[in-house]
Amino acid sequence: MPELLVDCVSKEYPTRGQPLCVLHAVSLELDRGDAVAVVGPSGSGKSTLLHIIGTLEPPSSGHISLGGENPGEMDESALARFRNQKIGFVFQDHHLLPQCSVLENALIPTVASGATRAEDIQRAKDLLHRVGLSDRLDHRPAELSGGERQRVAIARALINQPALLLADEPTGNLDRTTANRIAELLLELQQAEQMMLMVVTHSVRLAMRMSRQLELDQGRLTAPTTPLV
Ligand code: ADP
Ligand code: MG
Repeated sequence: MPELLVDCVSKEYPTRGQPLCVLHAVSLELDRGDAVAVVGPSGSGKSTLLHIIGTLEPPSSGHISLGGENPGEMDESALARFRNQKIGFVFQDHHLLPQCSVLENALIPTVASGATRAEDIQRAKDLLHRVGLSDRLDHRPAELSGGERQRVAIARALINQPALLLADEPTGNLDRTTANRIAELLLELQQAEQMMLMVVTHSVRLAMRMSRQLELDQGRLTAPTTPLV
């Protein structure tokens, strides 16, 4: 069984008329160390797919399994624990807590799973070192650049050593040089930790660095029909 299985996942949203079908029978398999780029036009269902794989939203039909477990069969608290332990998220907007320091922000996912332990603090410092922020531990998000904030978000996503890292246009708000650096960093950490990585991106350059490229077109997942470059 693959580490991540997406099995015939569809998603419909109710409307006043016909339901809006956003994903059509999407299937996908990922194994440890796989890095996949998802490209596609705006509105094609990329974020919806990431939300479903990230267990933030249930599919209308089909199912996913991660590490052999089906989150669709879990109650709310088991699901929250599962998500916290197994999945890291990096969004286009960093969603850092403004009142917390860089170090505290990186530690947030450890708070959800109980008390923060000394080894968590050590790992947070280590991750923040690896993303180049060792000398910013006490800064607040407002005192950082956009690229630095996204680096904190990456450290936070990795703090619980997730099996799966989901990134939704992680470089979308950054200038090109910073975006390239962040992309390098994501791949470097993914390789080092042998996570599965799924990145939604408009950057052909970033997409081409991944081991696989997939295209969503009106809710259908395919290999890219036209070459990305
Ligand atoms: P992408 O990330 O590829 O731009 P999304 O996954 O955000 O696309 O959205 C896909 C489609 O689903 C869009 O047409 C959007 O309007 C619709 N959609 C997304 N979320 C909802 C929702 N909660 N209710 C109704 N429609 C939604
Ligand atoms: Mg989106």
